[in-house]
Amino acid sequence: MSGAPAGVVVVGAGLGGIRVAESLRANGYTGPITLIGAEAHPPYDRPPLSKSVLLGKDDRVDLKPTEYFAESSIELRMGERVSAISPDDHTVTIERPDDPAHSETMVYDALVLATGLTPRALPGTEGVQGVHVLRTIDDALTLRGEIDSAARAVVIGAGFIGCEVAASLNQRGLSVTLVEPAPTPLAAALGTEVGALVTRLHQANGVDVRTGVGVEEIVDDGTAVTGVRLADGTALDADLVVVGIGSIPVVDYLDGSGIELAPRESGGGIACDARGATSAPDVYALGDVANWATGDGGTRRVEHWTHTVEQATEVAHRIAQSDNMIPAAPAYFWSDQYGLKIQVLGRPAPTDELHLVDDDGTKFLAYYSRDGLLTAVVGAGKVGAVMKTRPKLLTPTPIADVLE
Ligand SMILES: Cc1cc2nc3c(=O)[nH]c(=O)nc-3n(C[C@H](O)[C@H](O)[C@H](O)COP(=O)(O)OP(=O)(O)OC[C@H]3O[C@@H](n4cnc5c(N)ncnc54)[C@H](O)[C@@H]3O)c2cc1C
Repeated sequence: MSGAPAGVVVVGAGLGGIRVAESLRANGYTGPITLIGAEAHPPYDRPPLSKSVLLGKDDRVDLKPTEYFAESSIELRMGERVSAISPDDHTVTIERPDDPAHSETMVYDALVLATGLTPRALPGTEGVQGVHVLRTIDDALTLRGEIDSAARAVVIGAGFIGCEVAASLNQRGLSVTLVEPAPTPLAAALGTEVGALVTRLHQANGVDVRTGVGVEEIVDDGTAVTGVRLADGTALDADLVVVGIGSIPVVDYLDGSGIELAPRESGGGIACDARGATSAPDVYALGDVANWATGDGGTRRVEHWTHTVEQATEVAHRIAQSDNMIPAAPAYFWSDQYGLKIQVLGRPAPTDELHLVDDDGTKFLAYYSRDGLLTAVVGAGKVGAVMKTRPKLLTPTPIADVLE
């Protein structure tokens, strides 16, 4: 390639996209950076969508002020979608959903894929008024717009987003039922013992938690939702239904590119080495869509905020060939429910041994261990105690030392 550098093209202007662009500049990268985002909004933060936005406290949750992009020489292209990639030519094809005739090719030196997830829908509910998923700010504002005229909500799926939505709708005065086929909320992430504490939290706030039962059917009157029928035959009335049954990595634009995807049984998404490189030269992936090698022969795809930021930093360092140190940090994520911060530090597995060391009926603190070693700490309303565990999660620490 000759002439001016084509620079770094980032596909996906969400958290991972903006953070890789920001970190490239922070690490001295001076070439062009183009950030392409399919949504008609500048990069915004998703965690508040199920919390302060639904509660009516925030309307905008932008990650950067408008002037940031010009000041940092980052070209932000909103409302544009990358529809194809040619690793051999080092090009992407860009389309504009609002202008079907538009198709443009852009050359890259390095390409970063940060295209996130799309929520799984319940088949047959598309277009039924009152049935929602939550991934984008448009989803959140549409859902919020229906809260005042609703009385009864059913939230399907008690993962983190389902639990947060149930809490927010409850706090907005709706009668809420939370439905989950697993034995407790958050069972897959935190195990059933901590899941039971989360059930207790929801019940204490008046949410009807139905676990161990799936959904048979969403009932509507031809236009709008009227209820949900559970697999055990229970009929729940509802004028608002939120479906939180997981999400799928956005990889459709990679068809025909030859870029390797991870098998579905290992989490799917874009297969990467342990520092974010895909199977194509000069193409990297990060964030919710990326499935990185873990260095111990495994792979992992994670759908959490801090993890995305850490991967963006790693990829930016690699592209900018920076020697700057990236400090080691244990895995971390959080969830806010009923004003209580639930924090998870480390990597708990549902099969780990659980050590509940503090529980006052609302707030709690629990450690997880495997083969005698500390794997994680989970706290609700226990910020100080959780954070104190950080150094112990950076080296193998006997659980006995933590409990003494
Ligand atoms: C409601 C909600 C609450 C959350 N709360 C928490 C929390 O409390 N704690 C926590 O740790 N994590 C939380 N998360 C997860 C966290 O927000 C994600 O891990 C993070 O947003 C991932 O960033 P990303 O850049 O990988 O993807 P995203 O933020 O999803 O950004 C991807 C962007 O790529 C765009 N895109 C997709 N395809 C294309 C294409 N072909 N061309 C151009 N653009 C494209 C999409 O439109 C999207 O804007 C929450 C997520 C949601 C949805």
